[in-house]
Amino acid sequence: MELLAAENQRLREDEKMFRLLCETSNSAFIYYNYKEDRLRTIANWDYFFDFSVTDMKDFSKLYDRVEEQYAILLREGLFIENQNRDQESFEIRLKEKGLCVEVEVNIVYDVNRKPTDKIIRFKDVTRVNAQKDELTYMAYYDIMTGLYNRNCFVRILGELLRKADQEKRTVAVMFVDFDDFRRVNDGMGIIAGDEVLQLFGQYLIGLMSDQVIISHFSTDIYCVAIYDPCGARSVETIYRVIRERLKTPFRLMDGQEVTMTVSVGVCEYPEAASGALELINCAEIVMFQAKRQGKDTIQYFDGAILEDFLQTVTIQTKLREVVFEQNFTMYYQPQYYTESERLRGVEALIRWKDDTGDSISPAVFIPIAEKNGTIVPIGNWVIEKSVQTYARWRDAYQYPMILSLNISAVQCKQKDFIESFLHIIEKYHVAAQEIELEITETILIEDFGYISGRLAELRETGVKISLDDFGTGFSSLSYLKGLPIDTLKIDKTFVDTMLTDDNTKIIIESIIYMVKRLGYETIAEGVETQEQFQYLRDLSCDIIQGYYLARPMPAEKIEELLTELMARV
Ligand code: C2E
Ligand code: CA
Ligand code: CA
Repeated sequence: MELLAAENQRLREDEKMFRLLCETSNSAFIYYNYKEDRLRTIANWDYFFDFSVTDMKDFSKLYDRVEEQYAILLREGLFIENQNRDQESFEIRLKEKGLCVEVEVNIVYDVNRKPTDKIIRFKDVTRVNAQKDELTYMAYYDIMTGLYNRNCFVRILGELLRKADQEKRTVAVMFVDFDDFRRVNDGMGIIAGDEVLQLFGQYLIGLMSDQVIISHFSTDIYCVAIYDPCGARSVETIYRVIRERLKTPFRLMDGQEVTMTVSVGVCEYPEAASGALELINCAEIVMFQAKRQGKDTIQYFDGAILEDFLQTVTIQTKLREVVFEQNFTMYYQPQYYTESERLRGVEALIRWKDDTGDSISPAVFIPIAEKNGTIVPIGNWVIEKSVQTYARWRDAYQYPMILSLNISAVQCKQKDFIESFLHIIEKYHVAAQEIELEITETILIEDFGYISGRLAELRETGVKISLDDFGTGFSSLSYLKGLPIDTLKIDKTFVDTMLTDDNTKIIIESIIYMVKRLGYETIAEGVETQEQFQYLRDLSCDIIQGYYLARPMPAEKIEELLTELMARV
């Protein structure tokens, strides 16, 4: 008797333990005993369902509670013993409560493979699923805008290209980059910047379709891929609607308004590239061309852009490896007074021979060096080398000359430019009055106030300032007034056509007339013929530089020239 009581006690304890386990498991169970045809629900049944089941017939109530598309799955899944299977699990969604429920069915068989017990577990996986969805979302979409992210875009683009191969269609990629986005980010803060990116992204979502895939590619870059572009999904149409949208400013949460423009580069598969990444890269390179054209514009692929780019990249790499003394030399081109045909001085012009012996024109590599910053050390080398050579000539020949040096904008803007320049000329005992610095108009466009202040400072030391390539930039005579310059160099393009084109004739005549009135000297460069020389002399242009009188030459040739000159005196 006592033994039985103890056994009962142990069973009660066990039951308590099982109940606790079940109740804290976030699940509900159905237990069915085949022999007794008895069905029980256990644990958190009420959490999932608002009805009770007492026998198999009640299962039909379950089917009513799940969203329609899961009904069949549930009906078949609950009776796997019909297929002689042991276990099954699947997910359903409850209609009213909106819960995601994992259903696990287990059947226990006896030795004759007859089912004896069945346990069905319902487990709430709503939260787990939401987290999973979010992870998938983050893997494919850009959280900020809801557009595809970069990885996903590349993958989908790859698929589109394969499809295009099969269906003999094209795929266009538009690389869309906000112009001067930094202006927003730096000027208004990154929150405002993010808001602009978000608002534009949300607008772009509306342009998406099966054939138009759009991604927020990186910070201020969006990529559009168009399958079989034509009609409403042609590049032109999409560009037009984007520009139309950008005509209206973005209104930020704090009420501020921001107007933006974009530069767009376009290329097409298979014309421009053979793979997804290559196509995107190509569109980016083309986009840079749009930026160079003054932004707020679209540029279509053309082979020359790519070639140009490749050349730039090659030169950039070569520039990094250049050994100044070995690869660079200075040439000097004489300048003469028109009236007396006396030597006035020389313009220092850099020459570059790379290791393969190819010479690369400064007109090609200087702009690249300006972009990647190597112009600063190159420019310093030019100054030092030329000033040193010039000092040697002056000491040896005692012939009064002016050394003209080309200075690029980047160089001139360096904080210590004036200081280091003065330091070099001092080192070789050259007076500031013996040097002329040639700067171009473009340098003034960027920051007129700052640069003209700088030039005035330089001019106070005694150096001459010469405005190079005059007429190729914004060519306005009105801004010349009050500019701290001494000399104006009329660009070769005017000299080239002044004898054949009446308009150029008028322009060059008025330039020389005006410039003289302003008190500056004039130099005409690129003078190649006797006729040009004579014509400029008639116009009283002060100084002449050009192949007609002398080509740029190495230092030794200038020495020969000076020896000759001294012999004549
Ligand atoms: P630039 O300052 O306008 O130099 C004049 C260019 O015209 C030189 O080309 C010169 O060789 C060329 N030239 C002179 N007379 C004639 C002529 O009668 N006919 C023709 N067809 N050409 C003539 P180069 O030496 O190729 O230099 C090209 C440009 O590269 C220069 O144009 C200048 O902007 C830049 N550059 C050259 N050396 C330096 C340098 O040391 N520093 C910087 N920052 N730029 C330089
Ligand atoms: Ca020059
Ligand atoms: Ca020039």
